[in-house]
Amino acid sequence: MTTATSRPTMPPCAHIPRPYTGPTRSEVLATRRQYANPAIFTIYKDPLMLVEGHRQWLFDESGRRYLDFFAGIVTVSVGHAHPKVTKRVQDQAAALAHTTTIYLHPFMGEFAKRLAAKMPPGLDVTYFVNSGSEANDLAIMLARLYTGYNDVIALRNGYHGGSPWSMALTSHHTWKFPAQVNTGVHHAICPDPYRSPFTGTPEQIAHQSAEDVRELIKFSTPGRVAAFLAESLQGVGGVTHGAPNYFREVYAIVREAGGLCIADEVQSGFGRTGTHYWGFQNWGVVPDIVTMAKGIGNGLPLAAVTTRREIAETLAQRVHFNTYGGNPVSMAAGLAVLEVIDEERLQENARVTGGRLKAGLQELATRHPLIGDVRGMGLMLGVELVRDRATR
Ligand code: PMP
Repeated sequence: MTTATSRPTMPPCAHIPRPYTGPTRSEVLATRRQYANPAIFTIYKDPLMLVEGHRQWLFDESGRRYLDFFAGIVTVSVGHAHPKVTKRVQDQAAALAHTTTIYLHPFMGEFAKRLAAKMPPGLDVTYFVNSGSEANDLAIMLARLYTGYNDVIALRNGYHGGSPWSMALTSHHTWKFPAQVNTGVHHAICPDPYRSPFTGTPEQIAHQSAEDVRELIKFSTPGRVAAFLAESLQGVGGVTHGAPNYFREVYAIVREAGGLCIADEVQSGFGRTGTHYWGFQNWGVVPDIVTMAKGIGNGLPLAAVTTRREIAETLAQRVHFNTYGGNPVSMAAGLAVLEVIDEERLQENARVTGGRLKAGLQELATRHPLIGDVRGMGLMLGVELVRDRATR
């Protein structure tokens, strides 16, 4: 137990970090300030330097230990320096780090097969890339090629990446540069009941938000669209989601207009929501295309687009090539991550531990008016802090 003023102590950890012998923190900061692009920022006024990780723990250069409550940026799905992932990556890097997909290597097909086994039937063809932005760009291209339409509906408050197309999908002015090319992307109202222009129960708000997509299709597009793309739970936007009827209703509207439904599982996939392996399964829908990144590789540059064969085949009309996509080191990491999530029952851990954390946060909310909202599922939780609960 801790009082409001005492500092909680962290549970013990047997791991002893290696002595750090590199440049000092201020030297690192000075070099970075001089030579790295100024857009690359650090959090904390006094920036933290991290030199070692061990499962949920991180260590700075002095050996001080921190709990990585952010898991990188929602990326370290099985723990820092997980021994199984590390060993597989080391072995593969020593054997063969790069060839590209123009040659055969056993890992790429095997990893695609194992992902297919985790998906609903029919979603069984995967293209590997290196980042979530690339995955979303590719998903949009597949949808445009398959449907023959151009317009895409995304959600306000969504984050989908920083490449030209994925930045167009992103709906936060902070992440959008005036140099972006918005090629036919329209942003519909986010179904989150906490900050909605609509009123009523969460289900009524979800219904009205889905109807907003119908209106967008009717008034801002030729009446036919290529795709609807949304995070199953919005991550960067503050872990928001609508009532369970939202995705069912909106998928039906989009499919009526000829569009494909794309689930961005970059943050919500790989068991993080606890109840299901994929975030979309919480809403009882089956997308046509699923994009993945972050947790798929536990920190290695690895992302993927899984879809049905007939959609995937549209890409074969030209040559599509990605130098690092499907590289054996990332594939080794991805295969090991899939195994560890199952072996260590990490989805169940997210459900149980996340449930405990959420209950604790909800209890804190009864005592602290600063907490406006507690939401999310599993270990994908959001707490919204407000100055005034009434005005939010
Ligand atoms: N989609 C979602 C939901 C994300 O959270 C992110 C990254 N924050 C991306 C896509 C883009 O991924 P990346 O940074 O790997 O390009």
